Amino acid sequence: MQNREGRLMDRLKRIPVREQDPKVRARNFEEVCCGYSAEEAVAEASRCLNCKNPRCVAHCPVNLQIPAFIAEVARGDFASAARIIARDSSLPAVCGRVCPQETQCEGSCILGVKGEPLAIGRLERFVADWSRENGVSVAEKASSNGHRVAIIGSGPSGLACASDLARLGYDVTIFEMLHKAGGVLQYGIPEFRLPKEKVVAHEIGNVRALGVKIETNVVIGRTVTIDELMDREGFEAVFIGSGAGLPKFMDIPGENLNGVFSANEYLTRSNLMQAYDPASDTPIRIGRHTVVVGGGNVAMDAARTALRLGSEVSIVYRRTEKELPARAEEVHHAKEEGITFRMLTNPVEILGDEKGTVRGLRCIQMELGAPDESGRRSPVPVAGSEFEIEADVVIMALGTSPNPLIAGTTAGLETNRRGCLVADEVGATTRPGVFAGGDAVTGAATVILAMGAGRRAAAAIDSYIQNKA
Ligand SMILES: Cc1cc2nc3c(=O)[nH]c(=O)nc-3n(C[C@H](O)[C@H](O)[C@H](O)COP(=O)(O)OP(=O)(O)OC[C@H]3O[C@@H](n4cnc5c(N)ncnc54)[C@H](O)[C@@H]3O)c2cc1C
Ligand code: SF4
Repeated sequence: MQNREGRLMDRLKRIPVREQDPKVRARNFEEVCCGYSAEEAVAEASRCLNCKNPRCVAHCPVNLQIPAFIAEVARGDFASAARIIARDSSLPAVCGRVCPQETQCEGSCILGVKGEPLAIGRLERFVADWSRENGVSVAEKASSNGHRVAIIGSGPSGLACASDLARLGYDVTIFEMLHKAGGVLQYGIPEFRLPKEKVVAHEIGNVRALGVKIETNVVIGRTVTIDELMDREGFEAVFIGSGAGLPKFMDIPGENLNGVFSANEYLTRSNLMQAYDPASDTPIRIGRHTVVVGGGNVAMDAARTALRLGSEVSIVYRRTEKELPARAEEVHHAKEEGITFRMLTNPVEILGDEKGTVRGLRCIQMELGAPDESGRRSPVPVAGSEFEIEADVVIMALGTSPNPLIAGTTAGLETNRRGCLVADEVGATTRPGVFAGGDAVTGAATVILAMGAGRRAAAAIDSYIQNKA
C-alpha cells in the first residue's frame, strides 16, 4: 500500500507511451507512437480529478466533454467514451494523434500545475482506435429536414461542418478537388504520424455514415462555380473550407532548378501518390543529401519523410532553436531519428550544375536583432559570413496561403491582404449565404482550429436557413 504522498506522486505522473525505436523507425513509414493498451488507458484516465469547472474543456476549440469521456475510460466503458466524444468530434483518432494538446486542453489541465497534465490526446486516440477495432458504431443518422448545403473542401473544417449539419438533418454534399478526401490529413501529414487507411479513411467513413455525400475530382471555380451551386443546383448555403494550399517561396535565385520542391508538393507525392511504397512508380527525387528550409511542423514532416525515403537530411532555419515554430515533440523526434539542425542559417541562392539540377545552397549566417511585431527577435544577416552547403534536393517549407481560385470566381467574396477570405466569428463571409472557415480564413493553422471554425459555421448556417425558411 502506498501512503498518501505516494498516491499523490502517482497522480502527478503520466503513464508513459511506447514508441518505435528511433533507429528502426527512421527507415520505415510505420507509426512512431504505439498508443496505450487498455490497462494503460484505464490507469492514465484514473488520474483525472473530474474538475467541477474543467479548464481542459474551456481550452478545447470543439468543446469536447473531456472529463465525461475520461470517466468512462477510467470505468473501462470504452464504447460509452467513444459515444461521448462523437457528439463533438468526428475525427478523434486524428486529433488524438496530431493536435497540439500541450497548448490547449493539456496545457490548461489542473494536474499540470504541480505535475504532468493528463494525457488527454493519448486517451482520445485510445478510445477512437478501440472503437474502430471493436466495431462500435458512433454515427446516428438524423431524419432529413429537406434543406441542402454544399461544402467546398474535405479537410477538417469541411468534415466538421458537414457532420454537424448532417446531425441536424441537412442534406450535405462535400465537393473535393483531389481524388481522395481528407485535405491535409490525406496529402500533407505523413503516414508515420497519421495512418491513411486505418485512421483517416475510417473517420471519413464515419462522416459518410451520417449521410454526408462526398464528390471528389470537382474543382469549385472550374468544374462548377459557387453561383451555379446556389442558383442552379439548389444549395441554400455554402461553406468554404478550401484550406491554404498555395506554397510560398523565398524569391532567391535557383528556386526553379530540378530537385527544388515545395514541402506541399514533396509530401503530396509521398502521401497521396505513395512514393514511399517501393512498388509505386511515383516520380520523386530521393536525394543523397536533402536540405529542408524552414522550422515549422511542415518542415519536420518533410525532413522526416526524406529521411525515411533514404536521404541524409538537414534542416536550415534562420532563427535559433528557441524560436522553432514546430511542436517540441516533433523536433525531439526529428533529432532522435538523426536529422541535423543548422540554426541561424538562411539560404541566399540555390546552386545548380550544368544540367540545371541542384548541387547545393549558398547560405548566410544570421544573428538575432530586435524583436519584430510577432514579439520574436528578428534574424539579421552577418556581413561577409556566406558559405555553401552540399545538397541534391532542396525542400522549401516556408508556409502557405489560400489559393485565389474561389475568391476570383465568386462575386462579392472579399479577401484580405494575405489572400484569406474575410469572415466574421461565425464564418459569415461578405456574400450572403456563403460561410467560410479553417485555413482559408486564418491562413495555415491547426486541425482543431479548423474543426472549431467548421462547427461554428454549421450552427450559423442552420440559423441562416431556418430564419430564411
Ligand atoms: C505537412 C503538414 C503537417 C501538419 N501537421 C499538423 C499537425 O500535426 N497538427 C495540426 O493540428 N495541424 C497540422 N497541420 C495543419 C492542418 O493540417 C491544417 O490547419 C488543417 O488541415 C486545415 O484544415 P482545412 O479544412 O481548413 O483545410 P485543408 O485540410 O487544407 O483542406 C482543404 C481541402 O479543400 C480542397 N480544395 C481546395 N480548393 C478547392 C476547390 N476550388 N474546389 C474543391 N476543393 C478544393 C483541398 O484539396 C483540400 O482537400 C499540418 C499541415 C501540413 C501541411
Ligand atoms: S483539467 Fe485535467 S484533471 Fe481536470 S477534468 Fe480536465 S483533464 Fe481532468
